[in-house]
Amino acid sequence: MNLVLMGAPGAGKGTQGEIISERFELPEISTGSVLREAIKSGSPLGEQVKSLIAQGKLVPDEIINQVVKDRLSQADCAKGFILDGFPRTLAQAQALDAMGVTIDKVLYINVPDQVILERLGGRRVCEKCGETYHIKHQPSSAGELCEKCGGKLIIRADDKPETIRDRLATYHQSTYPVVEYYRGQGKLLEVDGTGNIEAITERTLRVLEDEE
Ligand code: AMP
Repeated sequence: MNLVLMGAPGAGKGTQGEIISERFELPEISTGSVLREAIKSGSPLGEQVKSLIAQGKLVPDEIINQVVKDRLSQADCAKGFILDGFPRTLAQAQALDAMGVTIDKVLYINVPDQVILERLGGRRVCEKCGETYHIKHQPSSAGELCEKCGGKLIIRADDKPETIRDRLATYHQSTYPVVEYYRGQGKLLEVDGTGNIEAITERTLRVLEDEE
């Protein structure tokens, strides 16, 4: 199964993606994580995208398309994959088609803007391993530190209030049309992404297992 996860920033794509990845034994490819790793390592790609990401702007299609093409050609993607954060523009969706990649299903995690603003404002991530927390809804049992690796919890560079608003606007303008693109192809599975993580996981797995 080749699956795409869609939804606004903070909709829960990363959280649900990790669970789906384990349940269906498919690699999860998060373009945001790939880019953040590149920034951390100081690679040429990282240098190229660093300031765009901090400003909450999209990385140019040509750059991200190449990143995804390289990743999907690796052996672990042969039996299927989960894409999180790509495609984010219609041009990226078309690039995927042009690569000859068939998308079977698109899981759209639907969350209203008000909920997104509250979630992103309270999001904290481990600076070392990238694990995600929320100060209210999913605090770390280790306080200011990551309960998995002991790393320091920080606010993502693009989770600042003014950047969050810009990212949401970009989502509505450039990414939501991709949801409609896949709806038109009859590939969209829609899940209510409000409520706690367990409830959303239950709905998500039910929808995906119905498809199996
Ligand atoms: P995410 O972790 O998915 O929220 O991605 C973080 C940031 O990485 C985004 O705000 C963009 O700057 C960049 N990014 C990730 N995926 C894409 C993509 N498919 N197209 C363009 N930029 C992307």
